[in-house]
Amino acid sequence: MDVRKGCETGMELDVQDMPQEWIEKEYNRLMKHVVVQPECWDWTATLSNGYPRFRFMGRMQVAHRVMYALVNGPIPEGMVVRHTCDNSRCINPEHLVLGTQRDNIADRESRGRNGNVGEKSRWARLTAEEVVSIRERYAAGGITLKELGLMHGVSQNTIHAIVTGFSWKHVGGPLTRRRAA
Ligand SMILES: [Zn+2]
Repeated sequence: MDVRKGCETGMELDVQDMPQEWIEKEYNRLMKHVVVQPECWDWTATLSNGYPRFRFMGRMQVAHRVMYALVNGPIPEGMVVRHTCDNSRCINPEHLVLGTQRDNIADRESRGRNGNVGEKSRWARLTAEEVVSIRERYAAGGITLKELGLMHGVSQNTIHAIVTGFSWKHVGGPLTRRRAA
């Protein structure tokens, strides 16, 4: 794959044509540098300007962006990957959402005013309960990843990661064998 393709299509970390095995290998490589906890997964390796750094596709990248791309697919041009937990060392994919630079600034301003962190995030975040219900609903059949994604306001890739146990490993519910999303 031509890594410059990312720039040409306006997508960053364009991983969507990569085989699932490659994605899993890179995911495992990334996971060697985190402490997995029920909440935030703190980065234990190199930081730069307070953000985790990771060599990926031949370049140094911000690790939480790499995590986002591996789990959810490429990051559209001009979008930033934001933390719902306000912990810049965290790369837990469940704490990462796409946003704009303007959202980031608005967040900082609202925190500056009321000193409140995270709680009032207007970004939907799945709960453990929802994850179990997504797995049960999918295992029961008759519904697509896309439909479940629309119901819960997340991408099809996020649902795929949930039903295969790729994300939310610590939560129960029936897992589905991995297959093409
Ligand atoms: Zn976090």
